[in-house]
Order: sequence, then C-alpha cells, then structure tokens
Amino acid sequence: MTTTQNLSSQETIALFDQYVIPNYKRYPVSLVRGEGSVVWDAEGRQFLDLFPGWGCNILGYSHPGLVAAIKEQVETLIHVPNTWYTEQQGLFAEAICSRSFGKAFFCNSGAEAIEGAIKLARLHTPPEKYKVITFYKGFHGRTFGAVTATAQPKYHEGIGPLVPGFKYAPHGDLQAVADLIDHETCAILIEPVQGEGGVNIPPDGFLQGLRDLADEHGLVLIFDEIQTGCGRLGTWFGYQHFGVQPDVMTLAKGLAGGVACGAFVCKDEIAPSLRPGMHASTFGGNSLAMAAGLATFQAIEEEGLLSHIAEMSQWFETSFSQLARELPIIKDVRVLGMMVGVELTIPATPVVAKAMEKGLLLNVTQDTTIRLLPAYNLPMEQAQQAVGIIAEILKELASA
Ligand SMILES: *Cc1c(COP(=O)(O)O)cnc(C)c1O
Repeated sequence: MTTTQNLSSQETIALFDQYVIPNYKRYPVSLVRGEGSVVWDAEGRQFLDLFPGWGCNILGYSHPGLVAAIKEQVETLIHVPNTWYTEQQGLFAEAICSRSFGKAFFCNSGAEAIEGAIKLARLHTPPEKYKVITFYKGFHGRTFGAVTATAQPKYHEGIGPLVPGFKYAPHGDLQAVADLIDHETCAILIEPVQGEGGVNIPPDGFLQGLRDLADEHGLVLIFDEIQTGCGRLGTWFGYQHFGVQPDVMTLAKGLAGGVACGAFVCKDEIAPSLRPGMHASTFGGNSLAMAAGLATFQAIEEEGLLSHIAEMSQWFETSFSQLARELPIIKDVRVLGMMVGVELTIPATPVVAKAMEKGLLLNVTQDTTIRLLPAYNLPMEQAQQAVGIIAEILKELASA
C-alpha cells in the first residue's frame, strides 16, 4: 500500500482547487520532505525554514530521535481511549509537570486546551463567577470560546453571536484590568508573550501585577503557553522566564514536536474541580502523541537545546538591533528566546514572497512585523544565512 504518488506542485494544487475548502491563503508550493531546518518542494527546490510548522516543529524536520520514537510507538499502540491507563501518558505528564507544576489534561490542539482551561476556571470558581478577561492583540485559537477570547475584531466578523462573558483589556495596562474586574469575574487569560499579535513582550511587572490582582479577587490566572511553552523562551515554560506562576497553563504547538497534541496543566488543588465526566477528549493523550512528546522533551534535555536557544536569542537580538541602526525602516526589534519579531515602519507582507524567491521561509504578522519561530536546534550558520537574506531584502525595500 502506498499513499505517495510523487505529484508535482501543480497536480497537488489542482486537487486542492477541486476538493479542499479554500479558507487558507497558501503559497503555490507543495512541500514533500524536510530535514533539520531545511525543507524541499515537489520540484526539488530547497528552502531554509525559520518558521517550521508554524512554530510546532521545534526540533526541525525529521529529527532522528523523534522519528525513531514515533516509529516504535506506531508498531505497538497508536491509540486507546481514556478508559484505560497507558504508560506513555503517565510518563509524558510526568515530563511536563515535573518541569512545571500540578497535573495535566491532554487534548489535540491549542484551541482545545484553551476551551478546557476556561471550563476549568468556571468550574473552579463560585457559580456567579464566569467572566474572563483577555487582551487586545492576543491570540487563543478559532473555536468559539477561544476565538471569543481572541480580542481581534477581524477574527469575529460574521460569526456572532460570540460566547458571553469575555472582557478585553489593552495589553500592558494593569489599571484597565483592575477596572474590568467585578464579582462575576473568574479568570484572566494571557499569553506571557503575545505571538500572533506581533511578539509583544509585557512591560516589567505586568504579569506579576496580574498575579496580584488574581490573588486579591480570587481569580484563576491562566497563561496561554501554546507558543511560549516547551522551551521557546529559553526556559522550559515561559512563566519561568518572568518568575510569575500561573494557576493554569495551556500547551500545544511544539508540545510533541509537530505531532498534534495539546494540554493544559493546573495546580494540584484546582485539578479536582474538573470532576469526572465534565470534560473529555477522544484522541487526547493518545499513545502516539505521548511518545512523540516524550521524545521531544528528551531531545531538548539531552541536546542542551535550552542553552543553545539562549545563545541564538542573544545573537538574533544583536544582529537585528545592528541592522536596525543601519535601516530606519526597522521600527522595533523584539526578541525573547527563539521568538523573534522585527517590526517595520512599512508593510512587511512583501518580505514573505521576496524571501521565498531567495529560498527562505518566514512569517509576517499584524502586517508590519516579520516573525521567526526557528527550530531550537537551528545551527548558527543557517541563522546567519537567514539574517543575511532578510538584510538584503530590507535594504532593497528601504531603497525602493
Ligand atoms: C497557535 C496558538 C493557539 C491556537 O492553537 P491551535 O492548535 O491552532 O488551536 C492558541 N494560542 C496561542 C498563543 C497560539 O500561538
């Protein structure tokens, strides 16, 4: 049996045109294989990918340890329901919680993790409390609860009514949050660093201020660590970089190195609020995803990737800051761990196509910010190559 026909990009695109709902803007390229931070299309063209798997492929493509663990698991058990115990789920929960806190629930995606965390916060607080405070430019996913939590009007157009009980505050404005809290508020939900919103690092003391407000008013503080978790900021979880402990955190994206997997983690004393029967996920915690997650965490540990991230982070910061001094079209450089945002004074969207022509894949968010979420094992030479290409493009744009 084979599921591969070696179609050309054009042939694959024709299938999509006929059979796939056209809700994504796709580049006209069919990708067929990857290795490390390099990926190839059906015509054999090679790209250096600094946004691999939209931030999910944290070990890059085809990491040998991850591939071996997945192969081994596939040959024994792919999935059994949560009416049974499996070693893989226990071990992966241990891998996560021993590096953070509390207890884990597994699902399959970021949005699902957010939905579960919101349910848990409502269940854990008294019945009159249901309101959740979130932040403008935040991003939490596309299901109804998650998209309502996402305070960006462009994602709400035409799909209302949204879920009741969400209030939005400007990012970084502690007083605005305090003003929104009333006796019906149950939770504050925030990304430690806003990702899709443009790599927005909170002002000093902001997350601690939220912790204090949550404590004062009996609120559940939820950190959406779907992008900042699992090493991205150079610490196992983003909250550890800021030294502020949430009550609940959500994980997905890189959690299993590119295999679909989500989770939320809550403090031990909160866990019993998710009473048996109140929440579930059929695929959540399946053996395949758990084995992939375990192998991903092992690779981060054994390959010393957290310290590599710290080095690379410093290098990206220095390189782009230097470039910003040469090029006034760079308005701001925001780097934390392997999360890189370079904001321009002009639209950054043309950079994506120009970079692709030069064999580099990257992302632009919020129209003006170039965003990189490199694999944690990105070698220095490839980082240099990528920044060289970006510099070339920005010089062209600046002189145009
Ligand atoms: C990607 C992302 C999500 C949504 O995850 P999905 O797996 O696409 O549902 C939620 N929150 C943050 C911070 C994200 O980056």
